[in-house]
Amino acid sequence: MENKTAKQLEEELLYSAKPVAELQPDTVALAEEFCRGYKQFLNESKTEREATALSTRMLQDAGYQLFEPGRRYEAGEKVYMVNRGKCVLAATIGREPLSAGIHMNMSHIDSPRLDLKQMPLYEDGGLALFKTHYYGGLRKYQWTAVPLALHGVLYKAGGERVDFCIGEREEDPVFCVTDLLPHLSREQNERTLRNGIRGEELNIVVGSLPIQDEGAKQKVKLFTMQLLNQQYGIVEKDFIRAEIEAVPAHKARDVGFDRGLIGAYGHDDRVEAYPALLAEIEVQSPRFTTLCVLTDKEETGSNGTTGLRGDYVFHFVQQLCAGQGADYVSCLMASKCLSSDVNAAFDPTFPEVNDRRNCAYAGKGVVLTKYTGSGGKSDTNDASAEMVAYIADLLDEAGVVWQIGELGKVDQGGGGTVAKFVAERNVDTIDIGVPVLSMHAPFELVAKTDVYMAYKAFAAFAAAEK
Ligand code: MN
Ligand code: MN
Repeated sequence: MENKTAKQLEEELLYSAKPVAELQPDTVALAEEFCRGYKQFLNESKTEREATALSTRMLQDAGYQLFEPGRRYEAGEKVYMVNRGKCVLAATIGREPLSAGIHMNMSHIDSPRLDLKQMPLYEDGGLALFKTHYYGGLRKYQWTAVPLALHGVLYKAGGERVDFCIGEREEDPVFCVTDLLPHLSREQNERTLRNGIRGEELNIVVGSLPIQDEGAKQKVKLFTMQLLNQQYGIVEKDFIRAEIEAVPAHKARDVGFDRGLIGAYGHDDRVEAYPALLAEIEVQSPRFTTLCVLTDKEETGSNGTTGLRGDYVFHFVQQLCAGQGADYVSCLMASKCLSSDVNAAFDPTFPEVNDRRNCAYAGKGVVLTKYTGSGGKSDTNDASAEMVAYIADLLDEAGVVWQIGELGKVDQGGGGTVAKFVAERNVDTIDIGVPVLSMHAPFELVAKTDVYMAYKAFAAFAAAEK
């Protein structure tokens, strides 16, 4: 190292992540273009069912065929499958046999929200309201005094399906959870932030006018039910057979004078689902079979028939293997998986929760996360050095700007996503995703350049020759 200046040595020997816009100025415009489609996807898929329907249409338009168990698929063929209207699987058959492994990319399309209870409608104080039960880890106080839209599905007696979507069009009414005025919140102010708004206080105002009839006891409730009956032909008991979700009514918007960020509901985890889906659609005759999974129920722990603790993805892999006469176990052992989900971005207003040297920053590229979990690395897939090395090399070769990111300081809290459930099937898995500000809030922020780098990373993994 003779005659090298300290500056040269610094560049050669030391490492720190840098903004995408600094390393690759040209990608700012490409990211802007890519995110136009992403914002549209966000606006049209606020629930897992809507994301499934939209993704299915995109796959069909791209020539994907509905998967037929037992059939032998040839290299380059593209198939898809839908699980219960809430999850999508799409695969492109590789040139290698399935025993060489699959390149899996798993993201989720459910987001924190307020679900209606089974018997939601009631009247109190001259208002009609819906009782809710929150879904996922949300900070309850953030969900008051924001316009909400209702999305969902309901089955009438006899099986007829009714689809709901009210509050998204300009001319639609919206709905709202109320909060106390500052003048009368002295007692509420003494609560901890966690209990500032309690679960049973997340009640949505849905009506205020009474039915014009002296005989009724609950006139406002009855008028609301009459309107619903006229519009959808439903009666109160039908709510029991429904899944209706209250989500923020606003659309995705550019944020900042420079428009570098996108603010929206549901970045977690559409900000991976959309790039993953495009990467899957665009890959042509890959070496390894690709499998893009858009799953449900991540936000509640991945349980049930549509969550990744369940078997649905692995049943699909089994059937794919059976069609090719490949050994299922060998296929899993040789497979690799990206657990594609968001991470927390460093927030300068709350710097104390992160280790600045090991956290992710908005605008510095897609984030690789070796482990999530909490405490002494409990409840996590801790990706091996080999897996980190594999993906880091792959991203470097593809010109992807990436950074590392640990979720918060040690012992600050924690969290996790689907990685461990896939890894437990003996598949090498690593967390990767976009850093988010205000994660799980009604309006989350991401950097456009990071979204674009996620897409480039997923495309590189789908098309990887190693
Ligand atoms: Mn997520
Ligand atoms: Mn989440």
